Amino acid sequence: MKTSEVLKAWAGILAGNKPYLSIEITKECPLRCPGCYAFDPAHLGGDTELRQLSDFKGVDLVRNILTVIDREKPRHVSLVGGDPLVRYRELEMLLPELDTRKIYTQIVTSAFRLIPAEWGRFSRLTVAISIDGLQPEHDERRKPATYERILKNIADARVTIHSTITSYMAARPGYIEEFLRFWSGRPQIERIWFSLFTPQRGATDPEILTPAQRAFVVEDLLRLRLLYPILEMRESLIREIIAPPTSPADCIFARTTHTLSADLKTKITPCQFGGDPDCSQCGCIASMGLAAVGNHRVLGGLTAGHLFHVSDRIGQAWKKVSGTFEPPAPESKAAFTIL
Ligand code: SF4
Ligand code: SF4
Repeated sequence: MKTSEVLKAWAGILAGNKPYLSIEITKECPLRCPGCYAFDPAHLGGDTELRQLSDFKGVDLVRNILTVIDREKPRHVSLVGGDPLVRYRELEMLLPELDTRKIYTQIVTSAFRLIPAEWGRFSRLTVAISIDGLQPEHDERRKPATYERILKNIADARVTIHSTITSYMAARPGYIEEFLRFWSGRPQIERIWFSLFTPQRGATDPEILTPAQRAFVVEDLLRLRLLYPILEMRESLIREIIAPPTSPADCIFARTTHTLSADLKTKITPCQFGGDPDCSQCGCIASMGLAAVGNHRVLGGLTAGHLFHVSDRIGQAWKKVSGTFEPPAPESKAAFTIL
């Protein structure tokens, strides 16, 4: 984000708004990935699961998303799922609307379906393709969105590759570099990001990295970022993986992001993982990125994080006294015009 955007986001925080909005635009997904947090029974807090919510389709989905966006006024919107490409017709209507509103937008998908080349006209759009390691492991975990299918579906697009590192990948020296070699030589790839698998507290998923594996991954990423400039992860961000935020209250990402599930009402807390995530083992790139910004020294011992926490408290207090918490949704004329 540019400095002007950061300042606008800060002004929004002072007014009690969250600059980031993440929406699960559908409860459907053709994949059944092991370790998927969206379909974890704990994701929505335990009483309901994502597949039990009633979601929207067609014009209703587009209109309702725009209503939420016009109410919340985010600077950045993530469209996730399920897989958002299940609703590709709705995305064709929604993306021009978000572009008109000058909102930075990210679509997170498995690329099981074609990424249209025409989406390249949206300068604020990022399409992030989730890839679970090299082809043998990925194809096993993510069929039908196999390597072969992804390569075909991104052939005319510009995309970001995002891979979540699991214990299997961390246990094999050279694995991450091989992954970077495979993806970095392709003209469709704008950048590559890594996260580390983040478990729920007390979980025993086989994907969970040991402390030694986390330390190894940090050293490996610090080395590889110098060899592969397409690995768009700053040193300060990578170092945050060693000491993630201690709790959701300490996590700038969780505190600045409003996450809604597929009925566009159910809030996912405390962050996009939902349930009771183990912050001490967090490896989410967004959380690490904002933690790095928060630890940036502004003046003497004063950090950007100190300024954020004070601003957030002012913003939330202001929202309470001004009575603007959950304001009624304004009618979006633009939404009705296009629809
Ligand atoms: S593609 Fe995403 S939402 Fe679908 S099962 Fe895999 S991880 Fe879950
Ligand atoms: S993003 Fe990570 S650090 Fe932040 S609340 Fe979620 S699990 Fe905790």
